[in-house]
Amino acid sequence: METKLVVGLEIHVQLACETKMFCGCKLGFNDPPNSNVCPVCIGMPGVLPVMNKKAYEYSVRTALALNCSIARFTKWDRKSYYYPDLPKNYQISQYDLPMSFDGVFEIPVGDEWKKIRILRAHLEEDAGKNLHEGIGHSQVDLNRAGTPLLEIVTEPDLSSAEECRIMAQELQRLVQFLGVSHANMQMGHMRFEPNINLIIDDNGIEYRTPICEIKNLNSFRALEGAVAYEKWRHLEEWKKDHNWTVENYGKQNRGWDDAKEQTVFQREKEEAHDYRYFPEPDLVPVEIDDAWLASIQETVCELPLAMQHRFVHDYGLSDYDASVLTSDRATATFFDEAVQECGLGKRVANIVTQFGLKVAHERQCTIDQLDISCHRVAQLATMVQEGTVNASAAATIFEKMLEDPAEPQAIAEKENLIQKSDAGELEAAVLEVLKANEQAVAEATSGSKKAKKARGFLMGQIMQKTQGQANPQIVNQLLDKHLAD
Ligand code: ZN
Ligand code: MN
Repeated sequence: METKLVVGLEIHVQLACETKMFCGCKLGFNDPPNSNVCPVCIGMPGVLPVMNKKAYEYSVRTALALNCSIARFTKWDRKSYYYPDLPKNYQISQYDLPMSFDGVFEIPVGDEWKKIRILRAHLEEDAGKNLHEGIGHSQVDLNRAGTPLLEIVTEPDLSSAEECRIMAQELQRLVQFLGVSHANMQMGHMRFEPNINLIIDDNGIEYRTPICEIKNLNSFRALEGAVAYEKWRHLEEWKKDHNWTVENYGKQNRGWDDAKEQTVFQREKEEAHDYRYFPEPDLVPVEIDDAWLASIQETVCELPLAMQHRFVHDYGLSDYDASVLTSDRATATFFDEAVQECGLGKRVANIVTQFGLKVAHERQCTIDQLDISCHRVAQLATMVQEGTVNASAAATIFEKMLEDPAEPQAIAEKENLIQKSDAGELEAAVLEVLKANEQAVAEATSGSKKAKKARGFLMGQIMQKTQGQANPQIVNQLLDKHLAD
């Protein structure tokens, strides 16, 4: 018996706009409940919505990065349903004429690339939030009602829980690079809804289990967990009843219980006609021309995976370092500019990953906000490369750079960190240390297990004597010479 998992993903991305999709209300995360509302977004009769142009631009930019075709004519539709967080009793969305369609996005799976086809990406508005915190009553906060959402729908091309997680993470990195979404998971900026079923080949007979949609997953962990759980559950259900197939059962919606780590039945899914879609009469259709589309095309930056590849091929970085350095656009741009100045990919990567990102993480900011400048990082990398300072001095200089706007060379001189590479000058210190540590010298030359450790000890003593300024390569050469005597 063979099984094949089939998953299509719907991803809702909150766009990084200042205001809502069809009114001028502010988008705020922690504002008091129902403070960012107006007659339009709370659905008063007679009001007229107006489209947020920025949201449309952001959506087209994303769709272009996903290699989608862009519709030259698109309209808005009402999707009707009744729920307390939806004051109009309909959501404005795009039904049969989405703003973009037929794209493809490549994701790295192991050492391979996998093409995930994009069925469509359309714009819509979010609903408000129902809060069930009180005892015996619920509350509704409409601050989120009308928030611009880009819904991206893939073809069922994903075939494992891991692939779903990779797809979601790559999309997060993409929209952050494009500057169209903060894609902050804690703030609910990305929500995932996988549609899942299993194809079972049982001695040449093919069974397809019913399609299940898992609603509203808001973390990568939940997405991966829910898909893995469903894969297991579908096989179990089918084993109990071979008639549990897509032909015999309709779609169902399920939720994810984070604590129990399992999916739970919610309801049989509505078919599209249950929503009574019809064209929104209060909004004009959107028509776009070549010139405008070309201007948006120009705002599509180099994409994160392309940049990651360039760092590996042009700068000789490991895949791991390249992925760390392209995890956000600020870091990637900072790194790239420093390397373009000094040409030292690996040296700059060391400084950025070992010192820069560590401090940025502690201070909860991006590396370009540290006031260290890529110019100074390039200079520091050059100093290490040329042996002007050693690695431990570079760490000290970096730390000083955080407070001191001086050039790294000046800091190194001020702090007495210029590396001593003059063999003649260092020889006296080496001989002194060897003389004072006869036992270590004996062990270092013994060829026994202790030799390596003893040599390390001598090295440490010499570094101490020279206040860390000795060039370790020269010291090693001197040790070779004198230990052999
Ligand atoms: Zn409003
Ligand atoms: Mn939607």
